[in-house]
Amino acid sequence: MIRIQENVQLKPFNTFGIPANARYFVSIQAVDDLFELQQADIFKNEVRLILGGGSNVLFTHDIDGLVIHNNLKGIQVSHETDETITLKVASGEVWHTFVMHCVQHNWGGIENLSLIPGTVGAAPMQNIGAYGVEVQEVIEKVEGIELLSGSVQVFDKAGCRFGYRESIFKQELKEKNFISSVTLTLTKKNHLLRTGYGAIQDTLREMNVTAPTIQSVSEAVIHIRSKKLPDPRVLGNAGSFFKNPTITQQHYVSLKSEWPTMPGYSSENQSVKVPAAWLIEQCGWKGKRLAGAGVHQHQPLVIVNYEHATGEEILSLAMQVRASVKERFDITLTPEVNII
Ligand SMILES: Cc1cc2nc3c(=O)[nH]c(=O)nc-3n(C[C@H](O)[C@H](O)[C@H](O)COP(=O)(O)OP(=O)(O)OC[C@H]3O[C@@H](n4cnc5c(N)ncnc54)[C@H](O)[C@@H]3O)c2cc1C
Repeated sequence: MIRIQENVQLKPFNTFGIPANARYFVSIQAVDDLFELQQADIFKNEVRLILGGGSNVLFTHDIDGLVIHNNLKGIQVSHETDETITLKVASGEVWHTFVMHCVQHNWGGIENLSLIPGTVGAAPMQNIGAYGVEVQEVIEKVEGIELLSGSVQVFDKAGCRFGYRESIFKQELKEKNFISSVTLTLTKKNHLLRTGYGAIQDTLREMNVTAPTIQSVSEAVIHIRSKKLPDPRVLGNAGSFFKNPTITQQHYVSLKSEWPTMPGYSSENQSVKVPAAWLIEQCGWKGKRLAGAGVHQHQPLVIVNYEHATGEEILSLAMQVRASVKERFDITLTPEVNII
């Protein structure tokens, strides 16, 4: 039986720690709750917002509508062989807790994605990625409920239209489809360990690990992330505020002649991916603070809520950062965070 609450403060429900009021708020504990919700007048008449862990949203105003908070729980084994295990995971499970569950069972494939905040259901939304791995690599299918019709929809990997921090769910299906479960296949042996990215190898060396395992790679990732990224419980943030932009080879070559230290990695269609953090730092934003909002002192891609910042203040800072990158490099940064 669902309970629709009125005037709920969303500050504890977003990792930026931004105060915003939800006119209506409902917690979904079972898929049937969604079907019950569809019958409610409030559901039919109000603007709707699906919310998981709130670690990739920026509230810039109160929500004059209905917030649907995901609390669907449960992990089921749907298929198993000697080599692999396929798990159907309810979308409200906490992502990092799920990763730890898999690491403990020695199931491989998502250990590089340790310590990413949020829910399992939001993982396909922006095809979460870190340390050379994207969640799409292990996803078999995503199940969702079409909010208006109540029909169950199943998307295979191709149907999810995954891209870099992108999917069909972040585009045309945004706020239309409630992701209810994610099915992923992980390895039980012959794991493909990815240690070549970032500081993983150096960290494993510091940990005196000579033969890496699922567990040690996960530990290394947790160690690196804890040092590098601000903990949202201490300093409000939503991780990377912008995506890393891709530019044409020509544009890159011309910038490189002026900025010889500019990093760039070859990407699809002969384009070049440039780290947004480097661009932002070159524009002098690293560690800068405007009112209660700031650009993090160690990781310029992360915008933080130092002290009682409003969503508008965070957004205003982000837009100033974006404008200076555009002016200096003629590159337009796209927010990764969902601005609401
Ligand atoms: C410190 C920090 C580090 C981070 N590091 C990374 C990183 O390394 N890599 C990375 O990819 N991301 C990273 N993020 C971003 C974030 O953790 C992920 O995007 C995460 O998947 C968001 O999950 P969530 O449940 O908090 O989503 P929310 O913020 O609640 O929602 C995000 C979007 O998804 C929609 N949504 C949520 N759940 C559902 C659902 N069940 N059905 C349909 N739509 C839904 C929401 O409407 C919203 O548009 C980081 C964030 C923080 C704070």
